[in-house]
Amino acid sequence: MAELAPHAVSESNSRGRQHPERAPSARSEYQRDRDRVVHSTAFRRLEYKTQVFVNHEGDLFRTRLTHSIEVAQIARTLARAMHLNEDLAEAIALSHDLGHTPFGHAGQDALNACMREHGGFEHNLQSLRTVDLLEERYGAFDGLNLTYETREGILKHCAPKKTHELGELGRRFIEGTQPSLEAQLCNLADEIGYNNHDVDDGLRSGLIDLLQLDEVGIWARHVALVRQDYPQIAGRRLIHETVRRMINSLAVDLIEETSRNVAATGVQTLAEVRKAVSLAAFSAGMYAEHKELKHFLRINLYQHYQVLRMTNKARRIISDLFGAFMDDPRLLPPQYQQMAITDKPRAIADYIAGMTDRYAIREHRRLFAVGEI
Ligand code: MG
Repeated sequence: MAELAPHAVSESNSRGRQHPERAPSARSEYQRDRDRVVHSTAFRRLEYKTQVFVNHEGDLFRTRLTHSIEVAQIARTLARAMHLNEDLAEAIALSHDLGHTPFGHAGQDALNACMREHGGFEHNLQSLRTVDLLEERYGAFDGLNLTYETREGILKHCAPKKTHELGELGRRFIEGTQPSLEAQLCNLADEIGYNNHDVDDGLRSGLIDLLQLDEVGIWARHVALVRQDYPQIAGRRLIHETVRRMINSLAVDLIEETSRNVAATGVQTLAEVRKAVSLAAFSAGMYAEHKELKHFLRINLYQHYQVLRMTNKARRIISDLFGAFMDDPRLLPPQYQQMAITDKPRAIADYIAGMTDRYAIREHRRLFAVGEI
């Protein structure tokens, strides 16, 4: 690895792991984090969890797994270009969505509504809970025992009520300090990833079309350049040539603007990054375009009636399952019945959050369909 910037996360300024372990012999501590995430059960389940389209709607749409891999690719590019800790950026990116429920945001909103009286449900906190507690892979501890810096990156936001339960990790939300620059960049890599692949998936699904996108600044600007270079281009090639250029422009802009911010504030150490204002940012012009595309997708894709029909069904599946298990926890698999003894609603939320889209659909059928066994 090329030399790290002085304000990058490194093993010498790490706050370490909750349960001390011997240093790895052939890898960095953050490679070890990445490897633990890749081998986890929660990571494999991402393959069958929705991003926008429910998993069985088509084989070519993004899932949470392919989304996470795309985010990791962007995050690694950003980190390497800025001499930051690329292994850490990869570990954060691959684990950032581990706590997502089935059926994307509709699933999270439904589970949060079910948990309103019991402490709520938030996918970001659930990602942390997954790596800290729920994974069962090691003899010596629950969870994956990841480094503080990876856990800090996973916890992007946190409701004020929850901060006190999170110890050292929650303190930054009370003190208003920042996470590492690697974590800040991962957050924006996530946005670059989903904005762009949702354009691609949205076009493939036919729910949005090229004519509509001509009204969106960042698309119009890049598609014009593509048509100028390749006057005959059409179809898939046109879409992919445009999307890849948008991702590149956003990433390059983010690197340039963030580097300017680092230079302007003069941060020299990781401690100074944490105390400074948020440094990772797009330039003002690019940010406006990025927000415009986000808004376009919200109105035209995420709120498209065909998407809403599916999310409505998803909401019902989640709340039906939650209600059935609350009424009779003996319907839970034995492991969760055990957990339900100490905290029934939380054990049920953990069970439901871990489900893939198709598992949730099947479980709903098993519990509610008359005539099914
Ligand atoms: Mg994400």
